[in-house]
Amino acid sequence: MSAISLYARLTPGYEQRVAETVALLQEAAARHPGRIVFTTSLGAEDMVLAELIARHRLPIALATLQTGQLHAETLALLPQLQALYGLTVEQWHPQAEAVLHFTRSHGELPMRQSIELRKACCALRKLEPLARALAGRSAWVTGLRREQSDARAELPFSSIDAEGREKLNPLAAWSLADVWHHIHTHGVPYNPLHDQFYPSIGCAPCTRAVAVGEDFRAGRWWWEQESAKECGLHVPRKRNEETA
Ligand code: SF4
Repeated sequence: MSAISLYARLTPGYEQRVAETVALLQEAAARHPGRIVFTTSLGAEDMVLAELIARHRLPIALATLQTGQLHAETLALLPQLQALYGLTVEQWHPQAEAVLHFTRSHGELPMRQSIELRKACCALRKLEPLARALAGRSAWVTGLRREQSDARAELPFSSIDAEGREKLNPLAAWSLADVWHHIHTHGVPYNPLHDQFYPSIGCAPCTRAVAVGEDFRAGRWWWEQESAKECGLHVPRKRNEETA
């Protein structure tokens, strides 16, 4: 059974949510000329945003964190974005020396040994490359949605992050049904793992399929308590954060 047949549904307000998303992206691109980047995980939501950016010719750069642990199915989306939409996605890799040192010290699957080592791996493979990807940018765009988890229930459309950049979440109000309806009606390419019950896809060692009735994020770091399950990319730092 495909993800489209499972989730795609036209619900009231969809067209308006699309229009508001495009308007928010257009305004943000105008406010941050040449300094705005969409950090895509290549998940379903992010493929929707890529399609909107391409269709409306929005001057927003695309970047992804190439952790070295992504599924082949995820990486295969990069040439598809180029071929279908003419979108080039910058790939940000972790520092090779640091990865070598980390795996030599802790083995191939350090994330299974402790939460601290899992967070250290995320810091090495995601947070440090993200900092480089955002250097020189004044705004970044994500595909986060409020529905995705309790921690994201209050997600604003726009906020200021700890470094003073504007962080935009234009899909904050979208439902899963909206995402898949958009993918279906616009023929947006997506990761085939979504058709194998992977609703949320990250690095291969830290992602599994979910069972019927399991939570959307249950397949991420499934050996940890729910409260620990964030990689740090989208954890707000309250001290400086404000909602716009
Ligand atoms: S998701 Fe897993 S493999 Fe990827 S950076 Fe985090 S701990 Fe490492």
